[in-house]
Amino acid sequence: MEVEKVVIVGSGPAGWSAAIYAARAELQPLVFEGAITDENRIAGTLPLGQLNLTTEVENYAGFPAGNLEGYLDSAITTSHRLNMAPHSKHGISGPELMELMRQQARNFGTRIITDDIVRVDLKRHPFQLTSARGETVGALSVIVATGARANYLGLPSEEAFKNRGVSACAVCDGALPRFRHKPLIVIGGGDSAVEEATYLTKYASRVYLVHRRDKLRASKIMAQRAEENSKIELVWNHTLAEVLGSDEQGVSGVRLQGTLKPDSKTLEAAGVFLAIGHTPNTAFLQGQLELTNKNYIVLTRPNRTNTSVPGVFAAGDVADDYYRQAITSAGSGCMAALDAERWLAEREH
Ligand code: NAP
Repeated sequence: MEVEKVVIVGSGPAGWSAAIYAARAELQPLVFEGAITDENRIAGTLPLGQLNLTTEVENYAGFPAGNLEGYLDSAITTSHRLNMAPHSKHGISGPELMELMRQQARNFGTRIITDDIVRVDLKRHPFQLTSARGETVGALSVIVATGARANYLGLPSEEAFKNRGVSACAVCDGALPRFRHKPLIVIGGGDSAVEEATYLTKYASRVYLVHRRDKLRASKIMAQRAEENSKIELVWNHTLAEVLGSDEQGVSGVRLQGTLKPDSKTLEAAGVFLAIGHTPNTAFLQGQLELTNKNYIVLTRPNRTNTSVPGVFAAGDVADDYYRQAITSAGSGCMAALDAERWLAEREH
C-alpha cells in the first residue's frame, strides 16, 4: 500500500486551500474530492461543496463584481470550463470560485480522486482510508474538510416527494420545468433561505418564504432584499407540517402549521425548498475522532486545527458551526496544511 504524506478529504474552500498550501510545501497532497453520484446529489454532498450550490458570491475578498469571463476562460482547463454555467458578469459565482480553487490546487501538483472516503482507521499509523470503490490508501497525516450538508425536516411526505418537487438546493433544481411560472415555497429564515427565495423568483410566479418566527435570522442586507422583492411573500410564524401532492403530479402544495397558534393553512405550490441549516459530514468518522453532540469535529487546541487524533487535522464547516463562511473555511484549510506540515516535520517525515 502506498503511504501518502497528506490525504485531504473534501473539496470545498477548506479542502482546496489546504491542498494549495500542502502542494507548495512539497507534500504532494492527495485529495478525495467526493463521488459524483445520485445519492450525493440528493444529499447535497457532491464534489466542490456547498459553495458549488450557491449563486453569486459577493463576500469573498478579492472578487468584486465585474466581468471575469476572459479570466475564467484562461484560468480553468477547457474540459471543466465547458461544463460550467455561463458567467453572469455580476462577479464571481460559487461554482466559478470552486473551479478556480480546484484548478489552482491542480496547478501546484495536487492529485485528485473523484470518490468518497467511506471508512477510516485512525487507530493505527500510518492511518488507513478506504474509498467507496474499495481503494485503501495509507496516510501519515489527514486533513478532514468534508463540510456540511443541508438539513431536511424529516417528514414522511417530504421524503416521499424528494426529487419530485422537494429539494434543498434552488440552484441545482430551481430551473426545472416543473417549477416554471408556478408558486414555490422556501422554508427557513437564514441567509440560505433568502438566497434560495431570491434565486427562485427568476422562475417562479411567486415565492412564499415561510419562517417559524416573525423575524429573519438572515443578515440585514439579505433580509432587506427579501422584504423588497415583490415576488417574495413572507409567511411568519409557520412551519411545514406536510407536503401535498400525488404520485403522478409530484408536489401540488403544502400544509403549514402555526407556531404561535394551533392554526393550519394550505398553500398551492409546485415545489418546496428546505433551507433550515446544515449537518456536518462526519458519519465516516464515528468512533474514530472526537465529535460534538451535533457531530461536528472537536478541535482540541485553541486557534489550531488539531483534532483528538495526533496527525489528523480538520478545516472548514466540518469543524465550524459558528462562522460557516467560504472565506473562514479557506483560511482554516490553510491553517490545517501548515499544522500538518509542521507535525510531519517534527516527526522527520
Ligand atoms: P442558519 O443561519 O442556521 O438558518 C437556519 C434557518 O432555518 C433559521 O432561520 C432557523 O430558524 C430555521 N430552522 C432551523 N430548523 C428549523 C426547523 N426545524 N423548522 C423550521 N425552521 C427551522 O442557516 P443558513 O441560512 O443555511 O446559513 C448558514 C451560514 O451560512 C450562516 O452563517 C450564513 O450567514 C451563511 N450563509 C451566507 C450567505 C451569504 O452571505 N450570501 C448565504 C448562505 C449562507 P430560527 O431563525 O428560528 O432559528
